Amino acid sequence: MPYRRVIDSLKRIFHRPASSIHPHTALDVGEHSPHQANTIPRDQHCISRKNISSNAVKVLYRLKDAGYQGFLVGGGVRDLLLGQKPKDFDIATNAHPEDVKNLFRNCRLIGRRFRLAHVHFGHEIIEVATFRAHHSKQAAPKDNNKIGDGVIENGRIIRDNVYGSLEEDAWRRDFTINALYYTIADFSVVDYTDGMRDIQNRLLRLIGDPIQRYQEDPVRMLRAVRFAAKLDFNIEPQTEAPIRSMGTLLSDISPSRLYEETLKLFLTGHGEKSFEKLRQYGLFQHLFGETHAHLKDDKVLQRIILVLRNTDERVADGKSVTPAFLFAAMLWTPVKLDSETLQHTDGLNAQEALFEASHQVGKRQAKQVAIPRRMALSMREIWHLQLRLERNQRGKRAQQLLHHPRFRAAYDFLLLRAETNPEHQSLAQWWTTLQTAEPDTLQEMTAVQKKRRPKKKKKPETPAAQDLPPSTDA
Ligand code: ATP
Ligand code: MG
Repeated sequence: MPYRRVIDSLKRIFHRPASSIHPHTALDVGEHSPHQANTIPRDQHCISRKNISSNAVKVLYRLKDAGYQGFLVGGGVRDLLLGQKPKDFDIATNAHPEDVKNLFRNCRLIGRRFRLAHVHFGHEIIEVATFRAHHSKQAAPKDNNKIGDGVIENGRIIRDNVYGSLEEDAWRRDFTINALYYTIADFSVVDYTDGMRDIQNRLLRLIGDPIQRYQEDPVRMLRAVRFAAKLDFNIEPQTEAPIRSMGTLLSDISPSRLYEETLKLFLTGHGEKSFEKLRQYGLFQHLFGETHAHLKDDKVLQRIILVLRNTDERVADGKSVTPAFLFAAMLWTPVKLDSETLQHTDGLNAQEALFEASHQVGKRQAKQVAIPRRMALSMREIWHLQLRLERNQRGKRAQQLLHHPRFRAAYDFLLLRAETNPEHQSLAQWWTTLQTAEPDTLQEMTAVQKKRRPKKKKKPETPAAQDLPPSTDA
């Protein structure tokens, strides 16, 4: 398979024999011998129960009281150690999913690729995962500790349900800093992979052989970039080296999983940094290929940086952010250019061309990152309203547009366009003034326009293709 050949050649380029691996630059997951875990006692770390969600604490105690092991793990531990507020709290346990379900009334089992228990507390979901072993360590069925199933195809993890011990669970996680376990038994942190040292050195290190780990799950490359951006960590050289050439493997990942990853990259407060790093490692093109093709145009690049910067500011201020707006900005240039081509080659009018281009670009984009239908509809509405903002500032339609449910998003999008293209500035200013105008001024603004162009009202809302000004912000 071509895919196999890519992997083999990458291995030849990057793989170093185990003997040449410095203990501080790589962690050999496949051949690790049983390790003595480092246990960091309560007085030597900063995690306090009061910073952990009370629901997560409840789950930990319930597991303990039922005789199971239960640990807080992943982002919850990592972020608390770094003095940040965790996004969510994940728990690892030796209880199997069905056991967890029996313990909690408010529990649902989800996932096929990775079977998990979700314990619901109102809006908060505590994710409880059974300890898993690395697939190479899959045990014979007689070993009671390791049941469940795992499927690997072409080196890719298709199903990841090989249950194992705490130690095995640590070694199959992605980064050392994500493999730290906090226990309520004595409030210590258990560390098998030297994650604590990497937290101190602000270093993102993949556990195991990076090529194999990216091959098993290429999304780990996006996670590397995301954590480097979010935490402001360096990526350790061996973890970093293969990313640039392995990015193509992302084409095998389902577009809906990539959508989820895209939201985490761009809408959680570090979007601008994520974008910068995705480009640095040649990954952006595997998410937004058509947008990437236009980044040489500085206006396009600046518009994307601006939208991400604004998004980061909104997140920091606790304001809501919508994927539709972000995707509208990302894909605007391909849509605008396609729409112009359709007007010239197929003789469609501006509105028809924009509809058709939105549809076509959306379809092509969905092969990389699938935008859910509801988001795609809002995104298209933002685009289509651009035409109305350009055309309808004269006459009473302007006032009607102010009450359109998507007016705000469309107006913000126009401001974004104006920021990178001076030609839209007067239009943007006109809409800004209109919104704050006193009733008299408002009448005057629209009436004056009406007098000047009395026939405008009778014209169809959308002008013929030949009336359109040439694109200025494609
Ligand atoms: P955050 O929730 O802040 O995005 P996180 O590290 O908690 O970061 P999750 O996606 O919630 O990320 O995953 C929880 C934990 O599960 C991770 O910390 C990691 O230990 C493990 N994990 C998640 N995805 C993978 C993966 N693709 N490969 C290996 N381990 C993973
Ligand atoms: Mg998490």
